[in-house]
Amino acid sequence: MKVKALAIDHLHFWYKCPNNCPEQYHKHGSNNDLSNRVEHRMSHCFFPQNVEIDINEHTFKATILKTFKHKNKILIKPLL
Ligand SMILES: [Zn+2]
Repeated sequence: MKVKALAIDHLHFWYKCPNNCPEQYHKHGSNNDLSNRVEHRMSHCFFPQNVEIDINEHTFKATILKTFKHKNKILIKPLL
């Protein structure tokens, strides 16, 4: 399954769970690499699946601090 990365910082990148998990966004390690690329990972869902996470020019260079699922909002801190 293909997903788009919402945000990336020097430690993690985040994407919206395609399976509607309660935590809504999943994160994986970015290995201090902010470049555009596609990462193949096993999702952190209850039933893990292969995901292709597209990190591209639309991906925020930022840290996701908090998500508010019921308000459909996120709090992000842009990288300096
Ligand atoms: Zn999930």
